[in-house]
Amino acid sequence: MAGKETNGGPAFSPSLDEKTSLENRASNGTVAVPTITVSALAKKSTKNWTNIRRGYEFGGPVGVVAMMTLFPLLMYYLWICLEFYDGRIVYPTSVDDVKSFLLRMIGHVRQHATPTWYTFNLFSGFVAYQLGIALILPGYIQEGLPVPSLNYKTLKYNCNALACWYFTIATVVVLHTTHLFRITEIIDNFARIMSVAMIYGWGVSIATYVWAVSTGNAMRMSGNLPYDFFMGAALNPRLGSVDLKMWAEVRIPWMLLFWISVSGGVKQYETYGYITPNMAFMMLATGLYINACCKGEECIPQTWDMFHEKWGFMVIFWNFATYCYSIIYMATHDPSKYRFSTPTYVALYTTLLTAYYIFDTSMAQKSRFRMQMQGSYQYRWTFPQLPWGTLKNPKYIQTAHGNRLLISGWWAYLRKPNYTADWTMSLTWGLVIGAASPIPYFYSVFFICVLIHRCGRDFERCAAKYGDDWVEYCGIVKWRFIPYVY
Ligand code: NDP
Repeated sequence: MAGKETNGGPAFSPSLDEKTSLENRASNGTVAVPTITVSALAKKSTKNWTNIRRGYEFGGPVGVVAMMTLFPLLMYYLWICLEFYDGRIVYPTSVDDVKSFLLRMIGHVRQHATPTWYTFNLFSGFVAYQLGIALILPGYIQEGLPVPSLNYKTLKYNCNALACWYFTIATVVVLHTTHLFRITEIIDNFARIMSVAMIYGWGVSIATYVWAVSTGNAMRMSGNLPYDFFMGAALNPRLGSVDLKMWAEVRIPWMLLFWISVSGGVKQYETYGYITPNMAFMMLATGLYINACCKGEECIPQTWDMFHEKWGFMVIFWNFATYCYSIIYMATHDPSKYRFSTPTYVALYTTLLTAYYIFDTSMAQKSRFRMQMQGSYQYRWTFPQLPWGTLKNPKYIQTAHGNRLLISGWWAYLRKPNYTADWTMSLTWGLVIGAASPIPYFYSVFFICVLIHRCGRDFERCAAKYGDDWVEYCGIVKWRFIPYVY
């Protein structure tokens, strides 16, 4: 194992054939961290972890077929409970009731969720607009991590999400104020738009799969069609300068979610003459999230979704569907059903802002550290820049692989501080309507399952990749999500 170090001092093992260079960028406010390139030894050891996942995940073909069938049904079911049954979980009361229950469900979908040309054009226009501005607006060029499956080639990403985000805000304001498109149309047509989004999820998944397989861009395939379709075939499909996976991850779901909450807020204002603190909370929460994704877009190429996960149904479907149940409840129910006391509002807003701060700075700390390590970090001012986002003289473990594991900042306390903070935010998206309905808590329940499963997959991969160094890291940073608990 390579030598250990603290306080950012050099710690390369002479046995590694890494090129190292100490870049002192103190002049532009960054920290001096030795840069590395992946060594031949690291490449050899990486073969172990890139190939460890030969077995099926997610319950194999049966599990993924079940998920692909049940997820769309679940989305309809939750929406029906929210909109037509006052947010209660409804079910057949007897075996005899099953048939009429199913007919009632189908009736709601047929009557209120069947796509129309208007909603199809609306959603398509939004997607085309996002793709168009992503193709033409200038952005910050960020180099991704070396991709093992591309023989350690690094890809360049045109990070123009922030420009596109500001551009979209300006466009929506113009459309709404000139009455060319009223923003409340989103809430009024929510279920039909959700159906169109699901059709897009399926359509894009099929098109990407066929393209990848027919052009030789498929990788890490199991040979089982449903399973490969679910997991995806291509890693980084691109359209011109746009990396489709990165584009779809941010520009569709989080952008849409924000506009759904604004739509709900405007709807409330037009109905009651004011916006409830609860709806304002969701506008703030979704606004913070999309803004974080855009302002820190250059950090996204460093995430697991980008360098490991393929662009298949699993990722695509959730990119075209969103977590907006508390907004739908508030937009369709009287505010008296979810009114809180002032201290409760203060607690709710404080929890959100604290969790956001930890989410934002923990992601920034690790991503900037990794970019510094790779030698690709450049200071980029975006709004807001929060204190402690960049660590000075961070401590790390030098691994024999060549990479370094950060053990400073939030990463000194937890192995997944970003997951804990992200999940806490998701919980507040349910807490915002209190006990009025259990359905808005679905996102946090679903999300904790995703995060625990993802954490397990990630740690298994890291253990194979870093070997004894990972064991040592886990000894230093003992807790995953919550100190002294888990
Ligand atoms: P991480 O940001 O935790 O990245 C994991 C990778 O980071 C590891 O594979 C490892 O890569 C590297 N790493 C782990 N620990 C360290 C360390 N101490 N120092 C340096 N590198 C380290 O996870 P994700 O990419 O999964 O998630 C990114 C964000 O996206 C999270 O905040 C998550 O909550 C969010 N997310 C949101 C979802 C949603 O639907 N809302 C869904 C999924 C994620 P390497 O092998 O290169 O060292």
